[in-house]
Amino acid sequence: MFKAVLIDKTEGKQQVAITSLDEASLPEGDVSVSVHCSTLNYKDALAITGKGPVVKQFPMVPGIDLSGVVEHSASPDFKPGDTVLLNGWGVGEKHWGGLAEKARLDSRWLIPQPSAFTPYQSMAIGTAGYTAMLAVMALEERGVTPDQGEILVTGASGGVGSYAITLLARLGYRVVASTGRQEEAPYLVELGAENVIDRRELSEPGRPLAKERWAGAIDSVGSHTLANVLASTKYGGTVACCGLAQGMDLPTSVAPFILRGVTLAGIDSVMRPLAHRVEAWRRLGELLSPHQLEAITRPIDLTQAIGVAEDLLAGKVRGRVVVNMA
Ligand code: NDP
Repeated sequence: MFKAVLIDKTEGKQQVAITSLDEASLPEGDVSVSVHCSTLNYKDALAITGKGPVVKQFPMVPGIDLSGVVEHSASPDFKPGDTVLLNGWGVGEKHWGGLAEKARLDSRWLIPQPSAFTPYQSMAIGTAGYTAMLAVMALEERGVTPDQGEILVTGASGGVGSYAITLLARLGYRVVASTGRQEEAPYLVELGAENVIDRRELSEPGRPLAKERWAGAIDSVGSHTLANVLASTKYGGTVACCGLAQGMDLPTSVAPFILRGVTLAGIDSVMRPLAHRVEAWRRLGELLSPHQLEAITRPIDLTQAIGVAEDLLAGKVRGRVVVNMA
C-alpha cells in the first residue's frame, strides 16, 4: 500500500483526499518509481481544487513533476536504483502523477536525475523553473541580449516568475519584476530584480501601442497584462508567453507585431521534446546555486498538499513548495 493525493468525481462533484492505495491499482507503465519528492505547480493547484479543467479522467493522482528512484524497470534505459526526474507529458492530468509515494510511468517520459541537483533541489525547480529556463532560452534564441535594455517578468513572486528573475539576473540582464505583492519587493530584489512595479500598471485594458520600454519579457499572466506588455515592448523585442494567471484571453491587436516587429514566443513545457528538456536542465545546473534554490523554496509533506494548493491559487504562496514523501 502507498499514500497518494486522490481526486475523484461523483455526480459532477469533485472530492480530494489523502488515500491509501494498493500498488496493483497503479496505471500501466514500464518503470515503477519510489517517489522521493514532488511539488505544487499552478496546474496541480487547479487540478486539486477543481478550479480548472486539468484532470482529464477520474480517479486521478495529481502531480505533474516527480523525482524518485526506479524500483522495477522493463526498459533498457533505466535500472532499479537509478534516480529519475519527470516533468509533464500529461502526468497528473491523464496518467497518475507525482503526489504519491509510488508511480508507474512510461520510460520515454523520464530523464536521468540531473547530476547538479538532488531530488529535493530538482523539485524546488520543477516545471516552474524548467519553464522559466525554456522562456529565457527563447529570448536568447531570438537575439535578446543584456545590452538591449530592461526585461520585464510578470507574476514575479510565483514559481515561474521567481526563477525567471533569478536566471535572467545571473545571465546579466536588467530585470524589472511586476507583482501584486509589494511586500515581496525585498525578496524580488534579492533574487536579482533591479526594479519592482505594481502589477496594476499592466492589468487593465490599454492602448494597442504604448511607449517602448522592454527589450523582452517573460509573462506568466496572460490577458490584459500580456497585451500591455506587447504594446510596450521595444522595436524587435521578444515576449515569451508561458501562463494565464490573470486569464486565458489575449485582447491585443496586430500593431506590436506589424509596426514594431515584436515576436510573441509561445512556451510549452508539457510536450517538449527530450533533447530540449535535457538542454534546459543542463543550463539550470550551470546557472542555479543551492543558496538560490533555498531562497525560493519551502518544504511541506503530502498531508499539507491539499491546503497549500488552495493557498497557491489564492496568491499566498511565494516562490515554490517541495512535497517530501518520507
Ligand atoms: P504561481 O501561482 O506560483 O505564480 C503565478 C503568479 O501570477 C502569482 O504568484 C502572482 O504573482 C501572479 N498572479 C496571480 N493571479 C494573478 C492575477 N489575477 N493577475 C495578475 N497576476 C496574477 O504559478 P506558476 O509560477 O507555477 O505558474 C504561472 C503560470 O504559468 C500559470 O498560469 C501556469 O499555468 C503557467 N505555466 C505554464 C507552463 C507551460 O508549459 N507553458 C509551465 C508552468 C506554468 P504576484 O503575486 O507576484 O503578482
